[in-house]
Amino acid sequence: MFQTSAGSPVPEGLTIVRRSDTAQGELHLTVKPVQRSSACPGCARRSSRIHSHYERRPRDLPWHGRIVRMTLRVRRFRCGTPACKVRIFAERLPGVVASRAQRSVRLADSQRAIGLAAGGEPGSRLAHRLAMPVSGDSLLRMIRSAPVPDFIAPTIVGIDDWAWRRGQRYGTIICDLERNRVCGFAS
Ligand SMILES: [Zn+2]
Repeated sequence: MFQTSAGSPVPEGLTIVRRSDTAQGELHLTVKPVQRSSACPGCARRSSRIHSHYERRPRDLPWHGRIVRMTLRVRRFRCGTPACKVRIFAERLPGVVASRAQRSVRLADSQRAIGLAAGGEPGSRLAHRLAMPVSGDSLLRMIRSAPVPDFIAPTIVGIDDWAWRRGQRYGTIICDLERNRVCGFAS
C-alpha cells in the first residue's frame, strides 16, 4: 500500500489501492473512495448496499513534477427507501471529482487559476510545463463556466481581448482590478 496519510498525493476522501508508472513516466494511481455509503439523489438517505462498480479516469494534480492519472473505482448503490423513485444511483464525490468530470476538483481549480492569469494558449503552455496538461480551448471553457460568487459591482475594471481561435473568433474578458477577479465574459 502506498502512503495515504499526511502528504498523500490523492485528494482527501480517496485512498490509494495501487500505484504504477506508465511508459511515459507518468504516475498512475488506482484509487477508491474512503466513504462506506453515499446519499441517494432522490431521497437523500445514505445507502451502503452496493449494486455494482465502474471506473472513471480523472486526472489529478501533479506529484513531484509528474503527471498523475487516476483510475477511480466508483460504486453504484441501491436505494432502500420503498417510496423513493431512485432504485440505483452512482455515488457522488462532491469536492473531489464532479459528475462526469475528467479532472479532480483541485486540478480544475489550479488549471482555471492558470487560465485566468495567463489566458488560453499561454496558460496551456504553462500548464503543460507544470505537469497538468490542458488545451487552451479547455482553459477558456473552464474560465467561462467558473462561478462568480457574491457579485459586487467593480469600480476599477480592466478589459482584455483574446483569440479563441487565432484570427477567427475573439472573446472579451472584464476583470475587477481591485479584487483581482473575473467579473464578466463575452464572445
Ligand atoms: Zn432514494
